[in-house]
Amino acid sequence: MADILVYALHYEGAFNKNSLGAVSEGAKLASALGGEVHAVVLGDGATDELCAQLGHYGASKVYRVPGPEGLAQPVVDAMAQLVAAHGFSYALFGGGLLGFEIGAGLAARLGAGVAMEVTAVRAQEGKLIAERPILGDSAISLVSYRSDVGIVIGRLNAFEIAVAGEHDAAVEEVAVEFSGFSTRARMVARGEQRGEDVDIEGAEVLIAGGRGLGKAESFELCSELAKAFGSASAVAATRAVVDAGWYPYAGQIGQTGKTVAPKLYFAAGISGAIQHKVGMQASENIVAINKDANAPIFEFSDLGIVGDLNKIMPKLTAALNARRLGGER
Ligand SMILES: Cc1cc2nc3c(=O)[nH]c(=O)nc-3n(C[C@H](O)[C@H](O)[C@H](O)COP(=O)(O)OP(=O)(O)OC[C@H]3O[C@@H](n4cnc5c(N)ncnc54)[C@H](O)[C@@H]3O)c2cc1C
Repeated sequence: MADILVYALHYEGAFNKNSLGAVSEGAKLASALGGEVHAVVLGDGATDELCAQLGHYGASKVYRVPGPEGLAQPVVDAMAQLVAAHGFSYALFGGGLLGFEIGAGLAARLGAGVAMEVTAVRAQEGKLIAERPILGDSAISLVSYRSDVGIVIGRLNAFEIAVAGEHDAAVEEVAVEFSGFSTRARMVARGEQRGEDVDIEGAEVLIAGGRGLGKAESFELCSELAKAFGSASAVAATRAVVDAGWYPYAGQIGQTGKTVAPKLYFAAGISGAIQHKVGMQASENIVAINKDANAPIFEFSDLGIVGDLNKIMPKLTAALNARRLGGER
């Protein structure tokens, strides 16, 4: 028998999708291991009614911990205390930045084994086995645990939400004594992530911008070109520019972003690193502009243009617009 503890993040009266996926996956797994899934919820906005809803996704019990929500260390304190008190065999996280931070912190605190970027979990001979893609997603490694507690951190949204029924979870309030260092950070503000409207997975034409654009404002060149291709197009990005804050994460292609397969993938100022390639190599047609004739992206492009994107992209956009307007006349 093995019980699983899951952290559930909430904001403005609702649990986030990723957390509900983790609770659902934890419930499936716990039942295969002959145990139960319990959840831990922090924060003032966590009412008993809200916590009880996690029962609909398979949690039999929810520990409601008064304390700050949305910060990693207080959750580590709470989960470490719950593991010590109830002997959970596994802790499961849905991924995302907070899930990674809490999972890693809990692993360090408990001296527990941890598998990150997990895309699937299963039970085998009474133990949990985690599947983790490796080598640019070209192979899967299977992870099992030697430690008393095993920690699983999923890839963002890897676990599907499954409604188990309408049964409410039992809610228990638990007081946790937070470590001094856990409460030194405080939440100053929360906001919506930019890019809610960026849909790169459904687009037929993707104009992807990289560091070669030089500055955030130059993404306008990509937007103009995407517009010239019509409504089934969208703008995407590399991690380098997402990390630089030039474009929202929702538009990132690659190993730690999205996998896409549009009819046309157009790379503007992208070197073609392996971590980017794994997210777009299934595109039907790959066109790249790069001023470096030896850029790796040309090795897997159907058409390569060696030159300065600042000169070429406006011309391409103008030519497409002229052709479209010519056709409409
Ligand atoms: C664990 C891990 C995960 C990662 N996950 C991802 C991921 O999901 N997605 C991802 O994209 N990356 C990912 N990366 C980062 C990846 O390794 C590369 O650093 C990144 O893809 C490079 O982005 P880039 O091509 O925009 O920038 P660069 O590599 O800096 O390339 C910029 C290119 O622009 C060209 N250029 C410059 N000026 C011009 C101009 N005026 N006209 C035309 N061309 C020009 C240059 O010649 C160069 O080839 C990951 C890395 C690690 C370690």
